[in-house]
Amino acid sequence: MSECLFCRLVKGDIPSDIIYENDDVIAFRDQNPQAPTHVLVIPRKHISTVNDLTAEDKNVVGEMLLAGKAVAAQDGIAEDGYRLILNCNEGAGQTVFHVHLHVLGGRVMNWPPG
Ligand code: 5GP
Ligand code: ZN
Repeated sequence: MSECLFCRLVKGDIPSDIIYENDDVIAFRDQNPQAPTHVLVIPRKHISTVNDLTAEDKNVVGEMLLAGKAVAAQDGIAEDGYRLILNCNEGAGQTVFHVHLHVLGGRVMNWPPG
């Protein structure tokens, strides 16, 4: 999986604007932001899609959600509100096949999503 874009980003082979990290996850700003805050939280471990998660990944999935919450607080959008999104496979718009949690906020979010 050495060619995976986000694995290369975890290794530091590709530069990114990392704003939060711990042993399990890193969070960095999306290169094509769809809102004033648009951050991606990814596991350091390669997991292609949500469909590939197993019970062994419970901890890392929890860390992703907690990192999303921490990023929202850091960016000052926690109280106004923000959205956490996991796109699974092409039909949902997934383009990078290394699981990532989108943290979006800083503007009014519409419902239903497109
Ligand atoms: P998806 O469409 O798979 O849910 O989301 C992939 C996201 O990754 C997109 O929002 C895209 O802008 C972002 N992205 C793709 N390549 C890079 C990159 O090299 N650096 C950063 N920071 N974001 C990326
Ligand atoms: Zn990967």
